[in-house]
Amino acid sequence: EIELFEKRTPKSAEAHKRNLKRLPLGVASNYRAYDPYPIFVKDAFGSKFRDLDGNEYIDHNLTFGALMAGHCHPAVMKAVEKRLTTGTMFGMPHDMEWELAEEICARFPIEMLRFASTGTEATMHTVRLCRAATGRDKIIKFEGGYHGLHDAALVSVKPKLEQIGDLKAPIAVPGGQGVPKTAVANVLIASFNDLESVEHRFKTHPNEISAIILEPVMMNVGICMPEPGFLEGLRELCDKHGALLIFDEVKTGAKLGWGGASEYFGVIPDAICLAKSIGGGLPLAAFGASKKVMGLISDHKVFHGGTYNTNPVSMAAGLATFREVLTRENYAHVEKLSHKLVTGYRRVVEEVGLDAYLEIAGANGVLMFAPKRVRNYRDWLEVDASLWQQYWFAMVNRGVMPQPYWWDEQWTMSVAHTDADTEKHLAVFGEIAPALAV
Ligand code: PMP
Repeated sequence: EIELFEKRTPKSAEAHKRNLKRLPLGVASNYRAYDPYPIFVKDAFGSKFRDLDGNEYIDHNLTFGALMAGHCHPAVMKAVEKRLTTGTMFGMPHDMEWELAEEICARFPIEMLRFASTGTEATMHTVRLCRAATGRDKIIKFEGGYHGLHDAALVSVKPKLEQIGDLKAPIAVPGGQGVPKTAVANVLIASFNDLESVEHRFKTHPNEISAIILEPVMMNVGICMPEPGFLEGLRELCDKHGALLIFDEVKTGAKLGWGGASEYFGVIPDAICLAKSIGGGLPLAAFGASKKVMGLISDHKVFHGGTYNTNPVSMAAGLATFREVLTRENYAHVEKLSHKLVTGYRRVVEEVGLDAYLEIAGANGVLMFAPKRVRNYRDWLEVDASLWQQYWFAMVNRGVMPQPYWWDEQWTMSVAHTDADTEKHLAVFGEIAPALAV
């Protein structure tokens, strides 16, 4: 399949070679680099994109899940085009901030918020706010969880098996050089779906833990659902120990459903981080909490700023996205298509006898090449990466990008996808699956 890939995409190979001279790994984000070279995009509309060689793909990468709107959603484009002619950045307040803040506070359990551009900023500022609110420095994060690129987040993201120690008290491992030891020392690692490992942290560090940060559905390990009682248990532990619960909803916020994870699971966190699909195709993020916690910014106790915050183009895209994309009807559409895809996949997996299973969460789904249902990072380490790669290249070579490259990701279904896209997707999977089973 790699040979076929290279035959179909010579212009991407050439472009990558050029990029390599100036950009480390030839890409602008490490997640975009893979062997033999990444596909370079020419343009993208609706549910599809084309590469430099003119090959067309049904796109379920969708910018690592940031495009539930699909490419160039007409309502988003209209709002952006209108706004583009009246100033693209002010660095001063304007009248869309209140409107979008109202939209967000209407569906998420927060009273006040601030805007940013990326998920990294949203989780970074939220962690700082929680530290200030509690007067404590440490946080609990889950092994394998991804929350962006700041020092507190780049701990135990993809640690090696030989580094991580006991499941009940995982060792904190910096995610590369340059993350200071002092930052790592303030991050306590627990195991997802394991309340005992969380309780252990509170016991050994009484009155030192400011917050637990997690993705309510862990999506940096394919898709890992919280088991019944897990999120409720975290809520109780936080209340008992005077810590705050942060839902990193950068992925789940727009894609689990209309009200994100708190509506989906019925568990209310203290703070929420949003990004990716709320921008409909432009960089937009937000983080929010109660008036009391956000009041630390009003009281000049916690500092927050950002040149690009609430730039009017992103805000116009965000408003159009909340009003015309992230609607109950559209959630019904993506869920219907996602179910159709999962049902079709399950049929083929069973027919050909693949050692794999399907997982689904709102607009996200994934084919997991794992021997058993993944309930934490350590289970995910058992995913058959080489079989997954064979699957990914075989699909891509036939015009379907089933998810971003990397077996820790998942597919996103957009409002632009159609029954016909899903039928083609399933036909291609049916064609390539037998070769995966041998
Ligand atoms: N949190 C989660 C759950 C994410 O998936 C991501 C991005 N993959 C981030 C934070 C960081 O977002 P960004 O890349 O916009 O900084």
